[in-house]
Amino acid sequence: MTRVDVAVVGSGPNGLAAAVTMARAGLTVHVHEQAATIGGGLRAQALFDAEVRHDVCAAVHPMAAASAFFREFDLAARGVTLLRAPIAYAHPLDGGAAALAHHDLTETCEGLGPDGRRWRRLMAPLMRHSTGVTDFLLSSQRSLPPDFAAPLLLGPRVLGHLLRTNGLRTEAGRALLTGVAAHAMGRLPSAPAGAIALLLGHLAHATGWPLPQGGSVRIADALADDLRAHGGTVHTDRRITDLAELDARVIMLDTTPRGLAALAGDRLPPRYRRALDRYRYGPGAAKADFLVGGPIPWAAPEVGRAGTVHLGGTRPATIATENAAVRGEAGEEPFVLLVDPAVTDPGRAVGGRRPVWAYAHVPNGDTRDPVPLITRRIERYAPGFTDTVIASRGVSAAAYETYNPNYPGGDIGAGAVTLTQSVFRPVAAWNPYRTPLPGVYLCSASTPPGPGVHGMCGYFAARAALHREFDVSTAPRLGPCDRGAR
Ligand SMILES: Cc1cc2nc3c(=O)[nH]c(=O)nc-3n(C[C@H](O)[C@H](O)[C@H](O)COP(=O)(O)OP(=O)(O)OC[C@H]3O[C@@H](n4cnc5c(N)ncnc54)[C@H](O)[C@@H]3O)c2cc1C
Repeated sequence: MTRVDVAVVGSGPNGLAAAVTMARAGLTVHVHEQAATIGGGLRAQALFDAEVRHDVCAAVHPMAAASAFFREFDLAARGVTLLRAPIAYAHPLDGGAAALAHHDLTETCEGLGPDGRRWRRLMAPLMRHSTGVTDFLLSSQRSLPPDFAAPLLLGPRVLGHLLRTNGLRTEAGRALLTGVAAHAMGRLPSAPAGAIALLLGHLAHATGWPLPQGGSVRIADALADDLRAHGGTVHTDRRITDLAELDARVIMLDTTPRGLAALAGDRLPPRYRRALDRYRYGPGAAKADFLVGGPIPWAAPEVGRAGTVHLGGTRPATIATENAAVRGEAGEEPFVLLVDPAVTDPGRAVGGRRPVWAYAHVPNGDTRDPVPLITRRIERYAPGFTDTVIASRGVSAAAYETYNPNYPGGDIGAGAVTLTQSVFRPVAAWNPYRTPLPGVYLCSASTPPGPGVHGMCGYFAARAALHREFDVSTAPRLGPCDRGAR
């Protein structure tokens, strides 16, 4: 193989974001992906029926709609249509009740009754500074905030999450916000979970929680198309087992620290190796995919208009189940996130058959089949759901790691989202992307700003490598019609 400027191991959104950024700087980039198809967490599969495609991992994209990388990359201009449901997310409660986060803030506040004005006080200022808040929380955490209002607004609100349920008093308001905090997949309440609740919570009323028309894979395809248009190459079915297999000036690893350690072997200095060994993984996700014959029969019919549904019950119940998963206790009623993509994108249903995507938060390495657990959870809020199911398959938390080594024990965050690991991700270093090996960088969700489809880990890692290894300090342009450096 001829020597290239950059070899990227892994074609998840971060690997592809790094590859695109470096190809845009005029470098030769080769991406190596172990799977048969590109995309990492963005892949799709026809599981039961050739016509109905299921998102294997990520389905909903508040961060791809808002992050600095994707704002400039401009998915819409590349033909990726981001569709928004009228209700961004819903949180059903027992007795046919439900709390609803409409895309429209006013409608949400009206629905929350006495908590409406508190919800507005919480979200409206963040919406006014949405770009600043997003760029601050999706930053490398090593630069000054682009908008100083962001930390000033977030500080008291994160404290409010930790100490006082953000002033919310009704069961519905509290459950609604706690469901968003649970996206952190960690201890509740906590500072990182509070920050995630505020980021995703305000985005629901701003750029929204969209689904790409046709599925998440459209995002991966748009990134790969741009890469190829700028001279890059993607090799699929190519698992890299040793860094020595790559002849490149710079290597970008879209892997976990565990993946880095395996690829580097005894070349890593023992101190750095020990620091990587201290990196912690969080609870696991266990997913159920269903093929159903009609819309989900929610007891609260409005839930059927929501893009995402949180099945966790009240705030205390959600906190209890999330903390049990962190402690490694396998409960029978885990927190479940559910998406019925055809609600937002009717084209996902073919001949009345539609995919349903749902995953539960369970202990790391849990081997249980999640289908019965998740079905029970759905039945509680949608009696009769089971009768609509044509086919189903479960992927346990333990099995997710076989599918993608970046999810150890089913940890889809590629590392626990704790306060320490939000900043020192993967190790305590000023430049978290650089490794002690010359020219080797980590660019996955195991680096800041962490999990989610936003491309920022790959983008920051690429900028760090461009600066240090190629003396390129100007950010390459990423827009569809842009060429070269700024
Ligand atoms: C069930 C599930 C639901 C999710 N839902 C959402 C959601 O709705 N919204 C959202 O924003 N995020 C969601 N996520 C999280 C999101 O998918 C990840 O945070 C994101 O994909 C991380 O991107 P990445 O590029 O760092 O890694 P990944 O997307 O995991 O990609 C890593 C890639 O590297 C490849 N690889 C690893 N090691 C090697 C090797 N040695 N050789 C070759 N290739 C290798 C892997 O095969 C993989 O393709 C979800 C994840 C899962 C699993």
